[in-house]
Amino acid sequence: MPAQLNANGGSLLSVENVTKAYGRAPRRFVALQDINLSIRAGEFVGLLGPSGCGKSTLLRIIAGLNPPTSGQVLYRGEPVAGVNPHATIVFQTFALYPWLTVLENVEVALKARGVVRAERRPRSLKLIDTVGLDGFESAYPRELSGGMRQKVGFARAMAVEPELLCLDEPFSALDVLSAEALRGELLELWTSKAIPTQAILMVTHNIEEAVLMADRIVVMDKDPGRVVTALPVRLRHPRQRKDTAFQALVDKVYAAVAGRTEPEAAVSGTAPGQPGATEKLPAARINALAGLMERLNADSGQADLYRLAAELKLELDDLLPIVEAAELLGFAQVAEGDIRLTPLGQTFADASILARKEIIAGRILRQPTVRWVYETLLRDNDQRIAEAYVLDRLRDEFGEYAQAQLDTAINWARYAEIFAFDDDTGELYLEK
Ligand code: ADP
Ligand code: MG
Repeated sequence: MPAQLNANGGSLLSVENVTKAYGRAPRRFVALQDINLSIRAGEFVGLLGPSGCGKSTLLRIIAGLNPPTSGQVLYRGEPVAGVNPHATIVFQTFALYPWLTVLENVEVALKARGVVRAERRPRSLKLIDTVGLDGFESAYPRELSGGMRQKVGFARAMAVEPELLCLDEPFSALDVLSAEALRGELLELWTSKAIPTQAILMVTHNIEEAVLMADRIVVMDKDPGRVVTALPVRLRHPRQRKDTAFQALVDKVYAAVAGRTEPEAAVSGTAPGQPGATEKLPAARINALAGLMERLNADSGQADLYRLAAELKLELDDLLPIVEAAELLGFAQVAEGDIRLTPLGQTFADASILARKEIIAGRILRQPTVRWVYETLLRDNDQRIAEAYVLDRLRDEFGEYAQAQLDTAINWARYAEIFAFDDDTGELYLEK
């Protein structure tokens, strides 16, 4: 380890009392207030927080793309002035040159770094192989899926061999499966030390993703943008989403993000047919839920339920299952006749469709009926099971409400691309 690292307590990066304000009084807006954050070599830090809390602003300040209003950023103990050549940011959608092939897109990054021509090709080929794009060297961006394009983006970022890799929601523009595959590839590169990167700082809105990848999770809140807490993740790699310890930590982070000190009411019950009660799903469609979240988000995040029902021209009885679903998923809290968005609900309302799918997927897999169907499908040989079998089991638990429970479970799971119902065969099947 270079001597400078030891000279400042092993810290690669220190953000010290950084404040960032935009505009002037009376329109002065404090995007970041008094941020302190330090990252050691060898650390993977996840950064979570509601939309608008200044996560992207903080990354840009760290990379030296924007100056702070006050405070400073130290890199290896030296103040960052101007663009930090040791840090690279990968954005949600990486801009590739459409007229260049995959290989040429990576070579360009090496050329910009002053790598001599003779070295560019072999190094680019190796990077392309590393991110799992072997065989696509001569393809053009338009011929690639979103996931593959983002891999080219990663290869380009890696070409720069950044010591500090900053990722700004790198997986959120991807479909669920590509995102998961690319997470795996990045983790593999990182944990096997196949890349010279010393530390990673990843902005995400996805709590499970943070728990899957990071060593420490820093939680921010907004108005003004600030760090509220940090949680260490001590699970060993490869991490399993289904492990109890994993889920317990996800709960803890959810609680922190929702600004609650108690872990959320974890007990949602046992699988249908098992001893113990199974939490019931409110009969609400996810699209209706999304509509409610958007409406609340546009209305300062809070509303009186009776007034809301009147404005939406809904009977209260029709609104309540949607509200219940919002509470069950951790998107809202109801108190004294008012519904209020949680930071998670707000994040959902602000998120892209694909990001919403991921949030819903993460939430509903904790619900026993959805989880039981999903796990039964996973264990099944061809990952298809007859609806009748599922209904039988659900009838033991829910009696005459079994069909309604299943309909809701399918609606939610289909939205999240977890499983769906095949009308032709009367089977449930795992979404690919
Ligand atoms: P996040 O990435 O957490 O969603 P951002 O860092 O993008 O948040 O933005 C934080 C806040 O700062 C937002 O309210 C945003 O509108 C504001 N902001 C960001 N960039 C600028 C800018 N260049 N000028 C004025 N306001 C900005
Ligand atoms: Mg952002």
